[in-house]
Amino acid sequence: MTAELIDRLRAEITAGPVLGPSDDGFADEVAAQNTAVRHTPDVAVGITSDEDAAAVVRIAAAAGVPVRVLATGHGSAVPVADGILVTTRRLGGVSIDASRRIARIGAGCRWAEVIAAASEHGLAPIAGASDNVGCIGYVTGGGLGPLARTFGFSSDWARSFRLVTADGTVRTASAEENPDLFWALRGGKSGFGIVTSMEFELVELSTLYGGSVFFDADQIAPVFSAWVDWTKTLPESATSSAIILRLPPLEFIPEPLRGKTVLSVRFAHVGASTAGERLFQPIRDTAPALIDSVQEMPASRIADIHNDPRDPGPGWDRGHLLTDLDAEFVSAFLGAAGPDQQVPFVAIEIRHLGGAVARDVPEGSAVGGRGAAYTFIMIGVPDPKLFDSVLPPAAEALLAPLQPWISPEHNVNYAGGLTVPGAYEACWPAETFQRLAEIRSSYDPAGVFPYGPPER
Ligand SMILES: Cc1cc2nc3c(=O)[nH]c(=O)nc-3n(C[C@H](O)[C@H](O)[C@H](O)COP(=O)(O)OP(=O)(O)OC[C@H]3O[C@@H](n4cnc5c(N)ncnc54)[C@H](O)[C@@H]3O)c2cc1C
Repeated sequence: MTAELIDRLRAEITAGPVLGPSDDGFADEVAAQNTAVRHTPDVAVGITSDEDAAAVVRIAAAAGVPVRVLATGHGSAVPVADGILVTTRRLGGVSIDASRRIARIGAGCRWAEVIAAASEHGLAPIAGASDNVGCIGYVTGGGLGPLARTFGFSSDWARSFRLVTADGTVRTASAEENPDLFWALRGGKSGFGIVTSMEFELVELSTLYGGSVFFDADQIAPVFSAWVDWTKTLPESATSSAIILRLPPLEFIPEPLRGKTVLSVRFAHVGASTAGERLFQPIRDTAPALIDSVQEMPASRIADIHNDPRDPGPGWDRGHLLTDLDAEFVSAFLGAAGPDQQVPFVAIEIRHLGGAVARDVPEGSAVGGRGAAYTFIMIGVPDPKLFDSVLPPAAEALLAPLQPWISPEHNVNYAGGLTVPGAYEACWPAETFQRLAEIRSSYDPAGVFPYGPPER
């Protein structure tokens, strides 16, 4: 059956590879950014065009074989162990229509390419913290980046998607065409088709006042407490986050931080730098910093604010959204995750939401989490031996005293731990999840595109 499927695919897919598990190049083709996840589909297909995507879907549907999509593998949480895994990395290319402030983004693009192309026109995409993440996977989950309070979810800036649905048809999903699919793709994540490109509105933005400032372990309590109070005073032009980092004593870590537990406050302000500097001053006044890189910066360097790791490696995370925070939260959080605690998490980050995040687009969208006040994410020690046994109970223990502040809302890009039963469904309000299910079954009645781990 698999050999026959491969033959049929090879007859139609001409430029990209069609690889079975024993073929040279298979392991590289299905490799994910999260190296703890090893995909073992029956076939990997590297698509290079809409026609390829349509051919894969037609052949898969006729054979009753499931189709899933791999872009960068930043979101790989569960191995794909059957069917066809479509890889999009060869479907790249960004073109900018500066007069309309629109980027046309190929499905294989990462944010870095879009940021670079847009910056040549004084424009910027509302991207995520890491410019290495794939644009489509990020936007279809919503996308909360360093400018979220000013510009909202990244999915609010998607203007149309081109995708191949389960009947093998190439469609446009926009406010005018297939508006149900457009609603679903702005936050409903997967199970609707293979997206081959996206039109994305850009903003005029050349500079920011932003960066990150690091405080030593003995300053974590006063700075974190001040940060929580300070976030309540910020206008929509400012977005920030606070992260406790437990850093290893390794060469690549800047010397003042090496081997230490530190708190970093990340900040981005859109508007005059003098106003940004004034807004950030209360954090600077709280304690002496180990490193302070907050300054006027090119918008094209936005990924420097969070400075997420770029190399592939094993990843484990678990996240939630939070309601409004107060002094009791600060003491519960520091009691569970503060510098004196032994916890197996290299990073625990809280991002401030509100502002434009809370406002839906006029035509509505499926994204979950608009009403939450903060994000909360725990990133485990990157040792796969700990992923199943040590990290889940440690996360539960850390979360237990924080329950009063855990929001009933979720967002799929922040959920992590989607293998926990019910966690995937909980990423959307029940009525949104139901509407997403109805849209999936109207475009994909036979379930060509499985969605959400674990498989359903
Ligand atoms: C270091 C790091 C930083 C991050 N920062 C942020 C952040 O700031 N804000 C935020 O909101 N999220 C963030 N995320 C989460 C990230 O947005 C999700 O993991 C996202 O799913 C990654 O998309 P990808 O395409 O890179 O990954 P992939 O794992 O390749 O794709 C994830 C899923 O997206 C779907 N998909 C991808 N491409 C297509 C396509 N062409 N057609 C159909 N479906 C497709 C598939 O279902 C796929 O399983 C971060 C993750 C990491 C690891």
